[in-house]
Amino acid sequence: MSDEKNKDSLRAKLNQYIEENKHRKTPERYFIVDIVAETTKRFDAEFINNELDKKGIRVSRGTVYNTLSLMVEAQILREHEIEGKKFFERAPLSQTYVRLICTQCGKVKDSKDSDLISVVNSRKFGRFSTSYSTIIIYGLCSSCVNAKRKATLKAKLIAKENKLESKKKLLSNNKKK
Ligand SMILES: [Zn+2]
Repeated sequence: MSDEKNKDSLRAKLNQYIEENKHRKTPERYFIVDIVAETTKRFDAEFINNELDKKGIRVSRGTVYNTLSLMVEAQILREHEIEGKKFFERAPLSQTYVRLICTQCGKVKDSKDSDLISVVNSRKFGRFSTSYSTIIIYGLCSSCVNAKRKATLKAKLIAKENKLESKKKLLSNNKKK
């Protein structure tokens, strides 16, 4: 989806929710929606604050938190807590989804694991009616795996060079003797 289309559909979704629930339509809310539409990663409220600052838009922190929870209510966003910190991410279109989250860079990717999804959808829980579900799998995305591999290789190479260097020094020292 293009950025503009994305923004329009999010704005429309929020509009509908705001009208149905008689909330106020404020321009600040739409600035926040646009930032959310532009991001594909998991984010926290601080990220939104920073993006607003970058654009030179002044919105109080209270409004940011407020709008984010409104977007959670409107099912535009999902809220997660990871290690005591609150994170938000775009809600998927389907009721059940498998979401892969990179713990290094926060990149979010959805998986269409239909086997897993159908297992979860068929599961009934006692005295509980399921509305929607999320299966979150944490790990490293391919670019972070590559970056890690490169860093390890580089560290190994440096260690090797250092070893060679000290060997050379030792040899030249021996020669001097
Ligand atoms: Zn990553």
